Amino acid sequence: MTAGGLSLLTSIYLGLFAGGFAFFWLWEGGSPLRPFADDRARRRHVLRNLGVLLSVILVADIVYGTFVLRVGAHLLDPPSGLLSPLALPTWALVVVAFVAVDFYEYAFHRLAHRWRPLWLMHRVHHSDPHVDVSTGARQHPLEAALIVSGRLPIYLALGLPLWIEVVRVIVANTVLFAQHANVAFPRAVEALRPVLMTPAVHRQHHSPDQPLIDRNFGQFFTLWDRLFGTYAEPEGEAPAAYGLRPLRAERWQTVAGILLTPFRSEPPSGPA
Ligand SMILES: [Zn+2]
Ligand SMILES: [Zn+2]
Repeated sequence: MTAGGLSLLTSIYLGLFAGGFAFFWLWEGGSPLRPFADDRARRRHVLRNLGVLLSVILVADIVYGTFVLRVGAHLLDPPSGLLSPLALPTWALVVVAFVAVDFYEYAFHRLAHRWRPLWLMHRVHHSDPHVDVSTGARQHPLEAALIVSGRLPIYLALGLPLWIEVVRVIVANTVLFAQHANVAFPRAVEALRPVLMTPAVHRQHHSPDQPLIDRNFGQFFTLWDRLFGTYAEPEGEAPAAYGLRPLRAERWQTVAGILLTPFRSEPPSGPA
């Protein structure tokens, strides 16, 4: 890939991010799956989650700026890694990257529900009592930094060019928005469940109750959940409720409250 190609990818990244968000936001306004109390509540909710996203962008930029740009040569040319001797074609490298990183995302997510230090951060994604397109962007910046940092060694170890990660993140952002969008998707989308993590499958993960909160950890594929016994077939479009009961209070829903959640709130011994 040339430098011009990379700049085109960056434009596609930004365009699809803003366009994808706007698309689902408008759709949710027209026919919400689970309506907000009123428009004011909906706007306040999205502004808060976008406020958290700003902090994530700052932190992720620092991480990418520090690690990716320092190995700038690897952004366009494959680094030397485990797969290099096989001289695989580009499409095969893309498939390997998507599958390998998806497994990493599954493992990280599952660990985040098991290991208290990670759970303290990951609760920020679960504490949203109204799941909509903006919930896809609601993540604690420290958790975002950890996840991003863990992806880079996979590319370097396997010898995968880092531009594939730009493509993967473009797809991931759109998928995240769709998975959290507060709309009912056509049946054709939900028919992809045997392979893909569809919106109805991911929404089960936002239930405050066991066992659903500890099911459906995957990002793109349902393969890992099916393989390791953590898959739950959705019984409807969405679970009975969203969020985490100990974090329902207003003070945990402001931008400051969300960012302070890992440090100020005391979770009980269980996952909630
Ligand atoms: Zn989770
Ligand atoms: Zn989610």
